[in-house]
Amino acid sequence: MAAPLTAYIRGLPETPSIREINIRSGPGTQYAMVFKQPVGLSGLPVLDAKPDEQGNNFQGKVYTWIKLQFSDGQSGWARDDLLELIGDGTAFGYPVIAVQTFAFVLNRQAVSDIRTTAAPTTPAVPPAPAVPIIPAAPIVPAPIAPTPTTPPPAVIAVPAVAPAPATAPTVAPTPPAVPTGYVNMRDGANVRSGPGSSNTLLTKLSRNTQITVVDVKPDQAGGTLRWAKIKSGTVDGWMREDVLRFDASASVFGLTQPDLYPASMNDRWWVRGYEGPQGHWGWDWGARVGEPVLCGPKGALVIKSVQCTRCTPERPSFKDYGIPLSDSRSLSDPAWNFGYGHYVIVRYLNEMLPESTKQALVNLRLGGAHIFVIHAHLNSRSVNEGQNLPPNTALGTCGDTGNSEAAHLHLEMRASMNANDTNWAGMKPNLLDPTILFSR
Ligand SMILES: [Zn+2]
Repeated sequence: MAAPLTAYIRGLPETPSIREINIRSGPGTQYAMVFKQPVGLSGLPVLDAKPDEQGNNFQGKVYTWIKLQFSDGQSGWARDDLLELIGDGTAFGYPVIAVQTFAFVLNRQAVSDIRTTAAPTTPAVPPAPAVPIIPAAPIVPAPIAPTPTTPPPAVIAVPAVAPAPATAPTVAPTPPAVPTGYVNMRDGANVRSGPGSSNTLLTKLSRNTQITVVDVKPDQAGGTLRWAKIKSGTVDGWMREDVLRFDASASVFGLTQPDLYPASMNDRWWVRGYEGPQGHWGWDWGARVGEPVLCGPKGALVIKSVQCTRCTPERPSFKDYGIPLSDSRSLSDPAWNFGYGHYVIVRYLNEMLPESTKQALVNLRLGGAHIFVIHAHLNSRSVNEGQNLPPNTALGTCGDTGNSEAAHLHLEMRASMNANDTNWAGMKPNLLDPTILFSR
């Protein structure tokens, strides 16, 4: 049994000079401020949770107001962008929150709102207005547009909260999950005291350690990768996003898309990302030789399944012949499969793709295109050209063939408007970053 839901007053961490927050008589800034409470108070029992009555929101996510019990017997409402929560939130539409989490990023199923909406005498909660937000705020200004150095609290690409369906009030929704990730590096990954690599190294977490994300910030030094504030057991610190992989639940922080295909191998670690036509053309995942390589969750059509004639079990890769990885003669040699080793290419029809992938293709002026994926350096192939693969079928196993330094899967993605295209080389102008389709 999890402990009852309690709140911690975080205030605005970016503005530490603000030492108190306003507590109001109802769920909105239109209600009177009844008293103030200091930043840093914790263990405050939660009595109720309601969406902002005026639909005030940040980037489409409507604020939730939380009614708190204070030790002097008073109670009142505070907005969720000033609070963190921990404990069993299911009575209020939250999940069970195992580690203290910034309340605003939690998705809440509006349990009490469904009741409210269903009651004919009570006005329905209005959806978030498309017009500018009313600028009244508790004591401090509501978060405004992000700046490079001091963004609002971790609200990158937050999906809009759908209003509770008035037609189905009896369905008890499953509470959403707490944002979760895992260490994705073979030798583990560092945890630091702040969002940048110059901060103190606190500890190292080993591969596959589960973490909870409680906040996200840009790199302090201006790097393009963000940093996640994580908790894991007693560990509390910052990790760069590229050393982690994320569950769909982490989409509240914009760390992943909730509808992506899973990674192509279950037991794997991250090696290298997509760098564009002038750099690395796909993703590299490390894995042990023999790890099954799977197609996507809606099945696939095998376009090519090709043996590398120079890749023998005894001498599978360039290095076994003393050939450098970048050797251009071998990379243009069909006997080496142009460096790919044993490989399988599959096709995913546009209509099978996640909504976020279809939209990404539209944004790339490839709306309606079909996606073709090569799985290279395989140890073995288990499918044939023309074969229709059921969902999540193994098409081969991870290997070390071709221009490969160590066992890994090279996953490379290209697009074509022609569903029956078999000309992989001809699709080169439509190289894609696998990040639009796959989880890491
Ligand atoms: Zn690669």
